[in-house]
Amino acid sequence: MKYIGAHVSASGGVENAVLRSVEIGANAFALFTKNQRQWKAPPLKQENIEKFKRFCQVYHFSADQILPHDSYLINLGNPEQENLEKSRDAFIEEMQRCEQLGLKLLNFHPGSHLQKISEDDCLARIAESINIAVEKVPNVVAVIENTAGQGSNLGWHFDHLAKIIELVDDKKRVGVCLDTCHLFSAGYDISTTEKCEQVFTDFEKTVGFQYLRGMHLNGSKTPLGSRVDRHDMLREGTIGTDIFKFVMNNQYFDNIPLILETINPDIWSDEIKFLKSLEQN
Ligand SMILES: [Zn+2]
Ligand SMILES: [Zn+2]
Repeated sequence: MKYIGAHVSASGGVENAVLRSVEIGANAFALFTKNQRQWKAPPLKQENIEKFKRFCQVYHFSADQILPHDSYLINLGNPEQENLEKSRDAFIEEMQRCEQLGLKLLNFHPGSHLQKISEDDCLARIAESINIAVEKVPNVVAVIENTAGQGSNLGWHFDHLAKIIELVDDKKRVGVCLDTCHLFSAGYDISTTEKCEQVFTDFEKTVGFQYLRGMHLNGSKTPLGSRVDRHDMLREGTIGTDIFKFVMNNQYFDNIPLILETINPDIWSDEIKFLKSLEQN
């Protein structure tokens, strides 16, 4: 089964994310459980938690179909101790919010070394941050997203993902989300079916599909290897659509959230229909 949806707004209450997903014909979704540009947020209200759970039940969204995303401010590999701790606390809070909502995945960008520490040191800090968080909060899996490799962001290379996973103690509590725009920007050529096969064979060897817990399906506005993160609509931009056909026809992408973060919410329902049309072609 393919679970397809978009990163929908949760404004007015987390439960609204469910309704917005129903409106666009999705059977998966992503959301922020708090304002993604602020450190602090008021705790979730019992009323919103109950509505969220009820709507999920009514509209048949299980925790496998929902991929919450954490705040952009969090840097779990921060070179400075005080900032690292601030990020770790905020991440634990995000995990707790997921737990309260009955969710079991939390998608995050791994972190940046800010030119102050080595890549290896930064990756080790990220892994340690995950170890701390999963010890404090039950059930929720820390889902590392591959990045475009902009600035000093790590996680753009499969080796980075593998290294973090290697250093996480409880492998059941760590996973990976691959973003097609980020793959392409990071230099992974997914513009033809043949090249997709090569890239995902590399992924299987380096990381392993058992860790794949979600996908972000986006077009890219920038060329291969640009290391710049600019999403585009699915059928626009530099990647082409072979990758989406590849995803829709490969069982490795069954039963995980496939999430649009494309730039025009008005055509999400149309993009979902497009993805479905690619199946078994
Ligand atoms: Zn993404
Ligand atoms: Zn992005």
